[in-house]
Amino acid sequence: MATLAGRGILGTFFHAPVRGEIEVLEDTLVLLDEAGVIREVIGPEDPGYRFELDRLDDHVVELPEGTYALPGFVDLHVHAPQYPQLGLALDEPLEVWLTKYTFPLEARYADLDFARQAYETLVTDLLATGTTTALYFATVHREATQLLADICIKKGQRALVGKVVMDDPEANPDYYRDASTQAALADTRTVIDYIRAHPGNAAGRVLPVVTPRFIPSCTDEGLAGLGAISAETGAHVQTHCSESDWAHGHVLARYGHTDAEALDRFGLVTRKSVLAHSNFLTDDDMDRLAARGAAVAHCALSNAYFANSVFPLRKALEKHLHVGLGTDISGGPSASMFEACRMTVAASRMLEDGVDPALPAGQRGRAGSRVDLATAFHLATAGGGIALDLPIGLIAPGYRFDAVAIDATAPQGGVRLFGETRPQAIFEKMLYGATRANVSAVWVDGVQVVG
Ligand SMILES: [Zn+2]
Repeated sequence: MATLAGRGILGTFFHAPVRGEIEVLEDTLVLLDEAGVIREVIGPEDPGYRFELDRLDDHVVELPEGTYALPGFVDLHVHAPQYPQLGLALDEPLEVWLTKYTFPLEARYADLDFARQAYETLVTDLLATGTTTALYFATVHREATQLLADICIKKGQRALVGKVVMDDPEANPDYYRDASTQAALADTRTVIDYIRAHPGNAAGRVLPVVTPRFIPSCTDEGLAGLGAISAETGAHVQTHCSESDWAHGHVLARYGHTDAEALDRFGLVTRKSVLAHSNFLTDDDMDRLAARGAAVAHCALSNAYFANSVFPLRKALEKHLHVGLGTDISGGPSASMFEACRMTVAASRMLEDGVDPALPAGQRGRAGSRVDLATAFHLATAGGGIALDLPIGLIAPGYRFDAVAIDATAPQGGVRLFGETRPQAIFEKMLYGATRANVSAVWVDGVQVVG
């Protein structure tokens, strides 16, 4: 695979270091070190610009006219095994959807041939749509989880991969659960060690994640054991939190306190935790997560099908929570982070205005809830990096060069510029219109993995 390591790339970049603002780096030279980390970002007014261009000579890759680069997208919530049912099974509430469609599908990953085919397709497709980092739930199977990590390493995607824990025999079907709590914890440790010691993973581009599916599928002993493993290994944590009325109610009935508080008591809310959905967080829950530095994976499209509500994103941001965006494949029927950005904006507008036309305008929604496209894009890139505590999501010195090139002129793509030359307008048209056909190149750690 071609690499930009030790070289430079010249073009116009868009990124969002500050929520709600797009910064345009026009005709800018980005220099990488040998590890694919951005060493310098040099604009045309910089005195060193000409010198560096001459010095690097043909070691500079230039983006073609009409092509622009963005930081790669960080998808904070993907169920890798559910990719075969993307666009299907959207007709039941969460608790029925799991047993009717999803557990039978996930159980098939005991078959490594099936797993390989599905995971190869998924990782290829996500990279091709500009997702340079994904936070993956795998399945309960140790071998298939390790296989997903192998495939991410081979294809060069930055990924965080977790073996799902579902250890409660009362709560899970016999055909799809951990054999015992002890086995679930032992397999979790084995997968962590496997990923960290992987000979192809010396750069640590793929990381392990402690992954209780959610409280309803786990025993207290299992949850406490996973909290202890996360403390001991320093691994990331991912799970679901207060996703739907049913899931929220289940935890309240079981413990007499909220999902966020319960997870925290089990040691599962850390600086490196990502809690998916979290629609029904209380004010206290938000304060708790903010104090821990934990993050929410906001899955706006999936929430429309399974969460019974719109996540109060703007409120969470005002309470200084870390938030990134997730597709929630396949609860959300799109694998595209462009789509996640669009739906984030749309959902926030629906929360603000409200949705029941029978109500008077003043009672219909929740004032002050909307976010703009620049905020959604910030969350999909820099916000994801902050959530994971990784130096990704910005075009700035010290950050990994994970980037996506968008050809805004691609005839088969969804962007039509109509002669537009204003950078901000071009950015908005790209974010709202871009499809996979507009993605002309993708880099992770400076290595070109698409195009
Ligand atoms: Zn999920």
